[in-house]
Amino acid sequence: MGITKTQGIVLKYTNLGEADKILTILTRSKGKIKAIAKGCRKPRSSLLAASEVFAFSEMVLYKGTNLYHVTQAETRETFYNLRKDLLRLSYAVFFVEMADTVSDEEIPSERLFLLLSKALFYLAEGEIPIGLISQAYQLKLMDISGYRPNLSRCVHCGSDDFESYKFDVELGGLICGQCEKSGKNVIRISAGTLETVKLLLNTEISRLNTIKIDNTIFNEIDKLVKKFVETHLEKQFKSLEFLDEIKNNYQE
Ligand SMILES: [Zn+2]
Repeated sequence: MGITKTQGIVLKYTNLGEADKILTILTRSKGKIKAIAKGCRKPRSSLLAASEVFAFSEMVLYKGTNLYHVTQAETRETFYNLRKDLLRLSYAVFFVEMADTVSDEEIPSERLFLLLSKALFYLAEGEIPIGLISQAYQLKLMDISGYRPNLSRCVHCGSDDFESYKFDVELGGLICGQCEKSGKNVIRISAGTLETVKLLLNTEISRLNTIKIDNTIFNEIDKLVKKFVETHLEKQFKSLEFLDEIKNNYQE
């Protein structure tokens, strides 16, 4: 009960009545919450900007019996640039859908909040290649959600003796030649891919520009990340399917 001041990013909403919305917000201090924004669809509402998807605001929330209410909001970022470019917009929708999937209501994760806000910021800014932001975002999000891939030792026996590298998607890490039998859900990766995945996990999104990746490695990582995310989050992202469709029409 009571009043909370926190930062929040709107993940999605449903309209309510004539002029209200129920927002799903990833907040910095309360985790994911649902909150009513009363009157926010009126053109002169002070909550108008803060009630759009992606909006990043300083919020004052009041906890009622069932739901939170947004009583005040000062919007810091609407990420307006994202709406001018279908490809960027689609990635943003995907990032938000992923954050929604891995977050639980009222379980705070400041790391997830900061990751999403940085990913949206650099996606909108346009200085860092989109594909890199996306791969780093997904890997970091998996790490935060308890699925940090094991990239130094065999996930089965712990050996660090590798002739070549294979990644067991199900077990979530490298698997050595002795342990790898089935070939099921196992992806062969190059040493360069392995090193780059480590870099992506350990580099701040703001500094991704320092990483140079050739196409072969980029594509290997894309395949690995996609399988890894799908397997562990057990979800087909609608936004990702759409993204794959339109990606072919763009040259980065
Ligand atoms: Zn092994």
